Amino acid sequence: MRRDLEKEIVGRKVKAVEVSGMRSIRRYRQRKQFIEPLLGRKFTGVERRGKYLLAKLDGGDVLVIHLGMSGQLRRAAGTKEPVTKHTHVVITFTQGGQLRFIDPRTFGEMFVTSLEGIEDEVDELAHLGLDPLESALSWDYFGELVAQRHAKLKPALMDQKFIAGIGNIYSDEILHQAGLRWDRMSDELRPEEVRRLYRAVVEVLQEGVKYRGSSLADEQYVDLHGKKGAYQDHHQVYAREGQSCLRCRRPIVREKVGGRSTFYCPYCQV
Ligand SMILES: [Zn+2]
Repeated sequence: MRRDLEKEIVGRKVKAVEVSGMRSIRRYRQRKQFIEPLLGRKFTGVERRGKYLLAKLDGGDVLVIHLGMSGQLRRAAGTKEPVTKHTHVVITFTQGGQLRFIDPRTFGEMFVTSLEGIEDEVDELAHLGLDPLESALSWDYFGELVAQRHAKLKPALMDQKFIAGIGNIYSDEILHQAGLRWDRMSDELRPEEVRRLYRAVVEVLQEGVKYRGSSLADEQYVDLHGKKGAYQDHHQVYAREGQSCLRCRRPIVREKVGGRSTFYCPYCQV
């Protein structure tokens, strides 16, 4: 999403911003507080920090975007393209169409802040952990970090203060690839298990990007052009309850943990 967004919006200038409802801009009391700092600004680059997209503007501000559970960013060629249901924010460029934010469940959000002020605005970003896609991470340092924690592996992987960017799907896929159960304790792994986990974190995230993300019926991920990702076709465990494990042919199990589903192979993951 970051790479596509960069191609599509960098160099474009904001002509108008429309917001329907306040849910997607809930940090504000009035629409104009969000809209005014965007008007007349040009996008200069797009960064990602953890699960946040940072669309940089000339003048030093950034448009911060979190897609939440069901948020979509969609590029529209022109103002005449039909507006889909649950479109909450529409940014119209002086030349070259619109960027639209669609979000049925409204867990996502947008706001504008200065690049320096971003950590005050979002606590998660002030304490963000390592980003395996951004920085080369040595496995022995990774091992130290894992051993310093006393947490079950799945919640540890999903803790943004530990590793940035991993959620429910990718944590299950990583743990299957590493051959580790979700509830193993992070400080009780043997060195070869730490190495397997490290390799799995890097490989699964890179594959996820390569296949342009996972699109599932309920989570609605599509790219800027409305196309689904293909990583769901490569899932080893996620949303495969009862289907056979691609490694050992035994059925994949689903367990509810903290209100969310966890999928794993009880035979391959120990
Ligand atoms: Zn298996």
